This record gives sequence, structure tokens and C-alpha cells, in this order.
Amino acid sequence: MHKALEIMLREGIPHKEALLKAYSGQNWVIFNRACNLLEKFDLPPHNIKALEESFELDLGRHVLVGVIDRVDDYDGQEIITDYKTSSYIPPKEELENELQPAIYMLARPGAMFRYYYIAHNLQIPINKTEDDLELAKAFIITLADFMERDDVCLPKLNKWCPFCQFRYDCSLFQNSHLNIEDGDLIEKWEKTKQIRRFMELQEEELKSQILARIAEEGNIEHNGKTYYAEPRKRREFDFGKILPILQERNLLNACYVKLSELPRDPQLWEALSEAERINYLGMEIKER
Ligand code: SF4
Repeated sequence: MHKALEIMLREGIPHKEALLKAYSGQNWVIFNRACNLLEKFDLPPHNIKALEESFELDLGRHVLVGVIDRVDDYDGQEIITDYKTSSYIPPKEELENELQPAIYMLARPGAMFRYYYIAHNLQIPINKTEDDLELAKAFIITLADFMERDDVCLPKLNKWCPFCQFRYDCSLFQNSHLNIEDGDLIEKWEKTKQIRRFMELQEEELKSQILARIAEEGNIEHNGKTYYAEPRKRREFDFGKILPILQERNLLNACYVKLSELPRDPQLWEALSEAERINYLGMEIKER
């Protein structure tokens, strides 16, 4: 998305063309979503000073590196823009407490800062005083010291891992593909659990992408099979309604902990069906 925006502004070409140049994947759903989002983008360039520019912020013992999406110059006043692709807009106080604006403003002294929520075509300026910036700097240094000493900031497995741009540099991602022959019994067991969890997360994410594709394009034909979406339902009973039915028939005893153990009496089951409800648990992928 950021690459497409960079190409769009650098080359002054339409969003679709820029996205085609920037996107190297083959997932049509992702491409289509990005395309719809870019269509809403309406932040015309104003004497652009930088696009996707990397910076190194010298903090004494530490160096913080990052990339600024965009800097415009309005009659000598630089404005940093950070693009947000999410459709959720956090409350202003939350955005003001983020470290990101302060980091960018420290990296580009004198510049102002704004978030730009593409989906809503909304600019949110964030103001920081010199004192705020000094405080943020001290906080970042403390945090960096802490990260150096403690393992609390080690990568943690999450559902975005399979799609993370840093996965090939990430020790966790690499380890999740390690041969489980390495290590002793406990290590192999721990590694196997980690791989299983990793694969589950990957499956979950792929499933949501397939469901999104089916929702947009219809069923998917693949290797002679048709993949389609169906609501996942679970039959549940309202126990408030079931109890009097069972009480009335003297069936409320310890033997009947499971409904499947109740007598196959049609009248009883007809009465119980009144207490039945269907709980919808999202969509699932089926094949035929
Ligand atoms: S692959 Fe590593 S760096 Fe990327 S999200 Fe997962 S844990 Fe974090």
C-alpha cells in the first residue's frame, strides 16, 4: 500500500496503475481491497520533500531507525504525514499518546505531524511541545535500555506472522520451521507445540482470506472441487426452558447429564425442540 502511494505520488499516475507496479503478490482479494482503499485517497501533494524516507534517530547509546511515509512543505513549514490503512480510528487522546508522532518530529526537527486515515479521507494533526518531545526521547531511551536488558520484547507468535515482512529475519519464524530432531525431549515437545500453534494461526488467516474471496467472487473451483461458504451453526438448548419440561416428567436426575441420554420419546423431544435455538458461529468453508 505504502509503495503504491509512493509510486502514485512520485510518478503522478492513477492508483490502479501504481498498485499494479507495487504489488508483486497474486492474491486478487488483497489487490482488490488495496485498490478500493486507494480509490479513497485524496491528499494532494504539496511541494513534497520526502517519500518513504528512512531516518536514523541518534539517542546517544541507541539509534532508532524508521521510515517516514511523506513530508510536504507548506511555505517553509514541513508537515509529516503518516498513512493509516485501518478503518478504525482510535480516540484522539490515544493518538496523542502514541510515540510515533514524537519520534518522527524528533527525526525531523521543526516539522509538524498528521495522521491520514485513507479509508475516511481524514487528517488528524497531532501537536507536540518541545517538552513533550524531550519527555518522549527520555522514555524511548529508557525503553531501549529495558529492551536490551530484558527478553520481554522478543517476538511473539501471532496471526500475522505468515505475512510479516520481517519473517525471514525473525528468529521465531525461523525456529518454527526448525527440524524437531534438534534438542532434547522437552525442547522437541515445546517446538512441536509452537509449530502447531503457528500452523493453526496460518490456517485461520488463510481461511479468512478464502472466505473474503468467496464473498466477493463466489465459489472457488480448484482441482475439480468447489469450495463454498456456509454458516457454522450449533444447536443449543435454553436450560431455563428445558428444566421445567424435565421436572414435569421426573427426568431431572443425575443419570441425565447429557441430552443424548434422554429417552427417545417423541413427545418429550417435541417439547424440548421449543427450547432449542440455533447459534450462528460465523462462516466455514465447505467443499464438494
Ligand atoms: S514473524 Fe516475527 S517479527 Fe513478524 S510478526 Fe511474527 S513474531 Fe513478529
